[in-house]
Amino acid sequence: MTVKGRLTIEKERCKGCRLCIHFCPKEILEDCGELNKLGYRPVHLKDQEACTGCGICALMCPDMIIQVERGKGA
Ligand code: SF4
Ligand code: SF4
Repeated sequence: MTVKGRLTIEKERCKGCRLCIHFCPKEILEDCGELNKLGYRPVHLKDQEACTGCGICALMCPDMIIQVERGKGA
């Protein structure tokens, strides 16, 4: 399997604004269903294989808590 993008999301800093979910062209980010220490519902990646590594989610996050590595782990 070739991994095109690998995400790291600092869930404890996520404020659940949903901007990343809204802008992901593959629609593979979602509410993880749990509260973090700040009392917000952070997001997680539901389909690693579908991630293209485009980086739009990281660009849109106002708190810059998403990091995207491209083309690693193949
Ligand atoms: S890198 Fe692109 S495809 Fe992957 S989760 Fe972020 S916006 Fe979606
Ligand atoms: S854009 Fe950032 S702060 Fe907002 S839900 Fe996504 S990861 Fe959390």
